[in-house]
Amino acid sequence: MPNILLLGGTTEASALARLLANAGVPATLSYAGRTDNPRPQPVPVRIGGFGGVTGLATYLRDRAITHLIDATHPFAATMSAHAIAAAREVGVPLVALSRPAWQPIAGDRWSRVPDIDSAVSALAGPARRVMLALGRMHVDAFAAQPQHHYLLRFVDAPDQPPALPRHTLIVDHGPFTSEGDRALMQAHAIDLVVCKNAGGIGAEAKLIAARELGVPVLMIDRPALPDRMEVYRPEDVLAWLDHDTASGTKRGV
Ligand code: NAP
Repeated sequence: MPNILLLGGTTEASALARLLANAGVPATLSYAGRTDNPRPQPVPVRIGGFGGVTGLATYLRDRAITHLIDATHPFAATMSAHAIAAAREVGVPLVALSRPAWQPIAGDRWSRVPDIDSAVSALAGPARRVMLALGRMHVDAFAAQPQHHYLLRFVDAPDQPPALPRHTLIVDHGPFTSEGDRALMQAHAIDLVVCKNAGGIGAEAKLIAARELGVPVLMIDRPALPDRMEVYRPEDVLAWLDHDTASGTKRGV
């Protein structure tokens, strides 16, 4: 019988947790603990870091985990790299449930940068009205460009106000629509959107809105990761599990 560890923190991880529960496959969903009120889940949940690669490898061994599924966000590169290393060390098969990166289409006005620091540097220049669609983790880095007015949208109210001298903060966990995001951008006279290339449907509304309004987007590319097997749909993870379990491969656990 498989015994799954599912690294979560995304809509896709929650969807997969539902599928696994419905299929009667034992699984534990793991959160980093960044969100105040994670939604109830149909499988047992554990919260908090493992303590690096060594901690995760110990967890995999101690709990007799048979399969590791990395359904973290495409920008959670540290966790994903640790998952690859720990799975290799323990001999547990790993699959990543991810999303294809967004690609620009006609009407998009994207500039691309490789990381957050480059995005901050790219904002040098006269004051603009910027929608900073990054979640709350990296916002303070933009204090290095204090001339802009920033529109921020967080899932939870922050404990401390963001370190940006000029900003408007909205607390809203969505779901977002392109109509809603277009109205928001117009209401705040946004002339630049800064976002990470998360991919997926949920966060795409702002890109559609920017395209429709002709607003430029500063797109932060995904961090690079070591090679790993990747699928894009929760049901493909089930197929992978079925195949792997049926193949009866002897693992080092
Ligand atoms: P990260 O930088 O890759 O991870 C930092 C550390 O947090 C990891 O080394 C690990 O600690 C712990 N961690 C991360 N995900 C975990 C999980 N699912 N379960 C247990 N521990 C976890 O990750 P991050 O960018 O801070 O993201 C944290 C969480 O938020 C992830 O679960 C991710 O799916 C979610 N999220 C991230 C973004 C984003 O843009 N980065 C957006 C939406 C959701 P140890 O080394 O101690 O094990």
